[in-house]
Order: sequence, then structure tokens, then C-alpha cells
Amino acid sequence: LADEEVSEDELLADPVEKVMEVGGTRHPAIRLPAELFTPERANSEGMDLDDAAVLTDIAAKVAAMPAMPAGIDVDVATAIAAAEAAYPSWSATPVEERADCLERLADLLEQHRAQLMAIAVQEAKKTIPDALAEVREAVDFCRYYAARARHDIQPVELPGPTGERNVLRYEGRGVWAAIAPWNFPLAIFLGQVVAAVVTGNTVVAKPAPQTPDIACYSINLARQAGIPAGAIQIVTGGGDVGQALLGDRRIVGTVFTGSVPTAKAIARNLLADDVRPLVPLIAETGGLNAMFVDSTALSEQVVRDVVISGFQSAGQRCSALRLLLLQEEIAEHTIDMLVGAMRELVVGDPANPANDIGPVIDKAAYDRLMAYRQSVADRIIFEVPVPAKGLYVPPTLVRLDSLDDLNTEWFGPIVHVATWPAGKLEETIAAVNAKGFGLTMGLHSRIARVSEAVEATARVGNLYINRSMIGAVVGSQPFGGEGLSGTGPKAGGPNYLHRFCAERTTSIDT
Ligand code: GLU
Repeated sequence: LADEEVSEDELLADPVEKVMEVGGTRHPAIRLPAELFTPERANSEGMDLDDAAVLTDIAAKVAAMPAMPAGIDVDVATAIAAAEAAYPSWSATPVEERADCLERLADLLEQHRAQLMAIAVQEAKKTIPDALAEVREAVDFCRYYAARARHDIQPVELPGPTGERNVLRYEGRGVWAAIAPWNFPLAIFLGQVVAAVVTGNTVVAKPAPQTPDIACYSINLARQAGIPAGAIQIVTGGGDVGQALLGDRRIVGTVFTGSVPTAKAIARNLLADDVRPLVPLIAETGGLNAMFVDSTALSEQVVRDVVISGFQSAGQRCSALRLLLLQEEIAEHTIDMLVGAMRELVVGDPANPANDIGPVIDKAAYDRLMAYRQSVADRIIFEVPVPAKGLYVPPTLVRLDSLDDLNTEWFGPIVHVATWPAGKLEETIAAVNAKGFGLTMGLHSRIARVSEAVEATARVGNLYINRSMIGAVVGSQPFGGEGLSGTGPKAGGPNYLHRFCAERTTSIDT
């Protein structure tokens, strides 16, 4: 990864034309549908990522400022009451004005990029390239949903017999609960919030307990962008706060990204109350993501994409590669090359741009992952050395003797590797499908017929062919899965906003 760092000039080059590579991740700053966006709006101003002093200085400033701007973080009852009070006038605000707010917010996020990156590095332990990608994705969500709202949240005239007029309208529902994960504490957090508000809802947002600061900082910016203070409320804390929020009958919809067990608990919670109306739940959860490689694949490309997909962000993405499935004939050679590439990885302080991979999020995650590694110690093919101090989980390659041995998503830098015999690709895909998850899948093959067969067999939301399988781009790669991996609609896709709306039809006999 370290070899793929770009110069500042390259980083600042026109992002519309160029897909940038930073730390091995593709960063097409804005590659959103041309008809919806003008190039000059693209997230083109960069910062000097090579200058660690710049970031250290900003990090010191951020550490010195109050973590939560006063009045942002309130208790659940106060938050819901404020969001409810703000709803009538916000939902009556024209969608164009609501979309303007999102665009101003995108501008402010860009202006505050350095501070946001510094908080992401400190609080979420993101590497610098990951922190940059985080801000960029948040900007993309704001601009994309603003553009889509202008286009999609409009009354639709429907046919009817002569003398009858039928109109379908998309309106806000009321107060939504938005529950975000720590692994994308700005992008996913803000993506949920802005989708809810641009469609005319107000929202009570609960960032992950590990990452409240970046959430609060961004909501301060949302208020500066013109979204009324009441319309977005933040409550911070753990499961008890989440439960109090979701247990309140005034919540009319829930958008959640996190683990499968939590999604199921939320669904049960929403249905437990007999009196309460039925409430939509948009859930994006985990995956047991496999990459298939056949004997026609280009080994160098496979190795690069495995390293990116499995180890970047310390594997803490729900899209990340968990299970590498190699055709038997190429397994030994590919594993040798992969181990060679892993030897080049540098694990360490995420604030140091020389490091490829940082620590995992907290002690609980560290303990869980290290205990699992211990349980498979006799099957470890290779592990990358890590600093002695800190929550560094070694990027690890583990041999899997049977697909039956892996049924859990291990949310860290651990890639399992197994083989499949020639002619058994579709059967092996079916075995992966049968595990019930359906988020991402990768394929490396140069035979079009194989790609088509995999496309027909895979039951996943995002299939990536001959490339890495992380880093979905807003507007180009709508993200989200099926089965245990989520309910849809896909974030950053054309069908997302309508799910936040009440759909109301009026039929008039003229
Ligand atoms: N959208 C992210 C990606 O494509 C993953 C989101 C997540 O981990 O929740 O890598």
C-alpha cells in the first residue's frame, strides 16, 4: 500500500476526470451522474497528506477544543420533543430549500476537512487516507442526496379516466431515529441524517459510543448550513440510550447500520408495542464476504486487491474480504505472492502517513479478535508483525479446511483462505450464499462466461469483478446487501430517499 501513495499534485488533479489512488484505495472524489452534478462542485481541494506536521498540529488544536459543542448532545426525551416541535415547519419547507442546506453542508465539510480528518484519526483511529476518504464520502452523500431530492421528491401526475386527476406526493413522516456505526462515524452517520432531513423528516441521531465527537462536530456544521437546530438532535451513549430512543412511540422510522444481532433486536423492539404504528426499518449489517479467483486471473492484481479488501482499515468494514477462495491449481502460487505482499505492510500509529494499517477500534474488539486468532493458531499461514504496544491486531492469513468452519463475521484484519476444484465454482458460490449473508462478493477471472455465471449465482448486494471489493462510491456503487446483510434500500443509490417518505396519493374528480 505504501508504494501507492500519490504526490500532492496528483491528489489535487481534476477529480472528475481522474480516479485517485491514495494508500491503495480508489478515491473517485465525485464521479456522480454527470447530469446531476457540475464538475466545479467536485471535492477538489486537497490537503498535504505527506506533511505529518500539518495533521499533528490540527490534531493538537482539536484535542484542545471542547469535544461536544454546547447544546448539541441532549437526553432522549428532550431530543424527541425538540425534533417533533421542529417537524411541522421543516416538513413544509420546500424540498429545494432543504437540498440547498445539504449543498451548503457539503461546502462546510470541505472547508473543515482538516479538522474532521484529525478527529477521525484521533477518535476512530483512521489512517490518514481513510480519514480523507471518510470526509469525501460524507460530502458525496450530501451532494448526491441533495441532487436526488430535487429530482425525486416531486409530485408525480398519474393516469386516470377523463375527469379524474391522480397525484402521488412524497412527504416526510415525522421524527426518525438514526443509529450509526463507529467504522464510518462521519460518512454513514451523516448519510443517514441528511437522507432523513432532505425528505422532510426531523431526526434524532445516535452516533456510536466510540465516536461521538465527529458526529457532534458535523451537526454543528449542519446547523451553520441552515438546517434548523430542532431538526437534527444528537443523543450519545450505548444500547440503553438506543433502546430508550427506539422504544418511544413518536419515532416513525429507523435507519440503522451495525451488527446483525442489534438489527434483529431493533426490529423486535419496534414490533413489541401493540399500540404503536408499524415503523419502517432500514438496516445495513454485516457480511461474510468471499472473493473467488480462477486460474485465468492476473496474480499481481489479485494480490493487490486482496490486501486492499482484507486489510485496509484494519478490515473494519462490513464490505471487507473475509474468505478468499482460490481455484486449486493456483492456490499455492497465489498464497506465496500474497504472503510476499503482506511482508511489505506496515502496521502502526494511524497519524503517521508512513503506516498502512492502524489499530482496531477498542479493547473489546482487540480481545475478541486476538482470542479468535488464538483459537485458529495452528492454521495461521502468515501474520504481519505489529508494534508491541497498542490495539494492533496483526493482519492474518488463516487456512480454512472446510467452508463449514467459518460462519461468523470477524470484524478485523483476518482473511481466511480455502480452495475449490476446477468445475465447482458455482457449487462453491452456492455454499457461500447458503451462509445467509449477502453483502459483497469479489471475482477475479478473465473469462466473460465465468463473470456472467457468477453474476447469475451470487446473492449479494455488491459484486466486484477484477477489482477490490471495498470503498463503494456514492452514486456509482449503491451500497447494501440482502439476507442477513440488510433490508435495503441501498445507501448512495437512486431508491434510498423514497423509503424515508410517506407516499400519499390524492385522487380528484374534476
Ligand atoms: N461502504 C463501505 C465500503 O464500501 C462499507 C460500509 C460499512 O463498512 O458499513 O467499503
